[in-house]
Amino acid sequence: MEEITMAKKPKLLSELFHDTLKDVYFAENRILKTLPKMAKAAHSKELKAAFVKHEKETRGQVKRLEQVFKIFGKKPQAKKCEAIMGITKEGAGIMADYKGMPALDAGLAAAAQAVEHYEMSRYGTLRTWAQELGMPDAAALLEATLKEEKATDAALTSLAKSVVNVEAEAAL
Ligand code: FE
Ligand code: FE
Ligand code: FE
Repeated sequence: MEEITMAKKPKLLSELFHDTLKDVYFAENRILKTLPKMAKAAHSKELKAAFVKHEKETRGQVKRLEQVFKIFGKKPQAKKCEAIMGITKEGAGIMADYKGMPALDAGLAAAAQAVEHYEMSRYGTLRTWAQELGMPDAAALLEATLKEEKATDAALTSLAKSVVNVEAEAAL
């Protein structure tokens, strides 16, 4: 009806930036609920510690997003991210299916890396858009979080190689 009678308001990059910011704000808050469960489930002390460390970092990332909303002139708001719902659902499935099993930690590390990669793609995009939209301070905040997500991914890669998979094999 609307399409016939009037032209649609053009959607600009600023609107896309806002929508994507809401998406990642939802995702980070979802991740905050998931990380303690993963820390509790992990067998390896190192993996537990990595999840606990990243939970602390994630709290700071939520604060950074709130600062970005402020710079953008909007109130912090979440919009359901179907991707993180799916990725965390898979993680929950691993936790249930591999409970008490030697391969549990390998599965948890892999599930966490799927989350980090989703975040890396989002923060890389948002950082670039913030630059395009003339918000260098917002871009710097998003870049700081991007670095943390990349460091977490790298830490999980070495854990998966040096501890997790070896422990899984040794337990057989
Ligand atoms: Fe994060
Ligand atoms: Fe999303
Ligand atoms: Fe993360």
